[in-house]
Formats: sequence, C-alpha cells, structure tokens
Amino acid sequence: MAKGSREVVAMKCRDCKAQNYITTRNKVNIEGKLVVKKYCRNCRKITEHKETIKLK
Ligand SMILES: [Zn+2]
Repeated sequence: MAKGSREVVAMKCRDCKAQNYITTRNKVNIEGKLVVKKYCRNCRKITEHKETIKLK
C-alpha cells in the first residue's frame, strides 16, 4: 500500500468544537469533508465529528 495515500486528520465535535479524535483517511477514496458519529467526552453523548486540521 502506498504510504502517501493516507493522511492523518483530527476529528472535531460539531457541538462543542472539542478535538476528540485523531484518525487517518484515504484521500483517494473519500472526497470532501469526513463526518463520523462518535462519543464526545465533553458533551457526554454521541455527536457528529467533522474532519478538521490535517496532521503530518
Ligand atoms: Zn462535544
């Protein structure tokens, strides 16, 4: 697998804007912003988390 095809991104809670998760995404397969439902410790519930800054 080509190492350059995946990038590390931070996932931010849509409700409280807390940066809760770090994940990787395949920029070849996914277009646009990645949105996933995850548990937010700050909100204490499942919220939508949106891709934010890209990490190296
Ligand atoms: Zn939250």
